[in-house]
Amino acid sequence: EAATLSRIGLAGLAVMGQNLALNIAEKGFPISVYNRTTSKVDETVDRAKHEGHLPLTGHYNPRDFILSIERPRSVIILVKAGAPVDHTIATLSEHMDQGDCIIDGGNEWYENTERRIQQANQKGLLYLGMGVSGGEEGARNGPSLMPGGSYEAYKNIEDIVKKVAAQVEDGPCVTYIGEGGSGNFVKMVHNGIEYGDMQLISEAYDVLKTVGGLSNSELAEIFDEWNRGELESFLIEITADIFKVKDEYGDGELVDKILDKTGMKGTGKWTVQQAAELSVAAPTIAASLDCRYLSGLKEEREAAAGVLKEAGLKEDVGAARVGVDKKRLIDDVRQALYASKICSYAQGMNLLRAKSNEKGWNLNFGELARIWKGGCIIRAVFLDRIKKAYQRNPNLASLVVDPEFAREMVQRQAAWRRVVGLAISAGISTPGMCASLAYFDTYRRARLPANLVQAQRDLFGAHTYERIDRPGSFHTEWTKLA
Ligand code: NAP
Repeated sequence: EAATLSRIGLAGLAVMGQNLALNIAEKGFPISVYNRTTSKVDETVDRAKHEGHLPLTGHYNPRDFILSIERPRSVIILVKAGAPVDHTIATLSEHMDQGDCIIDGGNEWYENTERRIQQANQKGLLYLGMGVSGGEEGARNGPSLMPGGSYEAYKNIEDIVKKVAAQVEDGPCVTYIGEGGSGNFVKMVHNGIEYGDMQLISEAYDVLKTVGGLSNSELAEIFDEWNRGELESFLIEITADIFKVKDEYGDGELVDKILDKTGMKGTGKWTVQQAAELSVAAPTIAASLDCRYLSGLKEEREAAAGVLKEAGLKEDVGAARVGVDKKRLIDDVRQALYASKICSYAQGMNLLRAKSNEKGWNLNFGELARIWKGGCIIRAVFLDRIKKAYQRNPNLASLVVDPEFAREMVQRQAAWRRVVGLAISAGISTPGMCASLAYFDTYRRARLPANLVQAQRDLFGAHTYERIDRPGSFHTEWTKLA
């Protein structure tokens, strides 16, 4: 029997699980698979056969599944986050032995992982919460993997995950993230950053289209060109492709027929909530989340467009368009997008640092940037620069003060301000770019108007204040002196 045991198991064969299982099998690791609904087991076995007779065996009950894996067993779970993960763990762990490991690959809330680590430990089981990014394609051909939790459990699967992950020139896109729920937390912030990138790209599109008057084919060309420079990334690449797709039901391109209403699953919201909990400013990511909420108010926006005279807005756009040099606008928008992106990543990294300090995770930011270089949705050439910034200085206060990024931002400032200014005067909202610029302008000012806020707090709440010229805390009877 021993000869037929699998190296690893995977339970949960929806989009992600099925593709990750095939990927693992393709890399030469015999794998056992299981799913609550058995038709998905058949489907996966069928695919394994058709995609090259891969070493994958299907199982139809939890006991057979677990017993088919060599010890210590490593079992990846890829089911809907939340209660389904608890159900699946309960079902599977019944048949597991001391030293076996459960690896949750879902987009799980990190505290759920920390709770499950405790529960698993009580049964002598090891536990990993492993963020998996890259969607269906990544799972099949090489995702970015963010495993956190038991280091021993990580060591058991290190050879597998290093082969299965996306490969970039400086290694596989996986690293042991840290203890507890750090892997899930890092994946969550990755998703928050992804919200920011997508929002900023949509604003660049809006300015170019609405103010610049660019057609979809021109936009496709511009994004293709941008994808050959400093903005080279998966999201820029797919955006170029989106503009090229014709509508199969009518004239023109499909993108123009898509309802302007975004969905979301919660990781962006968690990121913003965590930023607030940890007192970290993340305005670009928050603006992206707000825009998703506002996009959902389609009917209200249509009504508001009437009340608030969208017609008037069109005149503003017309006025703004006059005198716009298309070529220069395109180049300005590229620079504004890049500078805005730096600020957004600075916010995400600083959120990670605050959490790492709170939890003692000892996160390695350069390594995080490195494993995001391939496989995941935010993969970009730009991440290599972030990796290097943290290698130059692991204690960097913010990406925006890294000498190289600082120089790049200063160089792009004028273009950035022109784009935001133009958008504002045209009545085209660019909340992400504005948030990034405000973040930049606030962060780099040695003196802010916070002195007045502090005076107000002391006046109405006796909250006291500090002085710039002598130590101690002070309180003033403001109203008596006024
Ligand atoms: P999903 O739609 O989130 O979940 C479907 C899977 O969960 C099925 O295997 C289903 O089993 C199982 N399931 C649901 N409720 C269950 C329960 N109560 N008990 C046992 N099993 C249950 O699948 P997915 O899209 O592949 O995503 C899996 C995880 O990866 C999620 O956490 C997701 O957020 C994350 N993720 C997804 C993507 C993506 O692009 N889709 C990318 C990165 C991360 P049945 O077949 O029996 O219903």
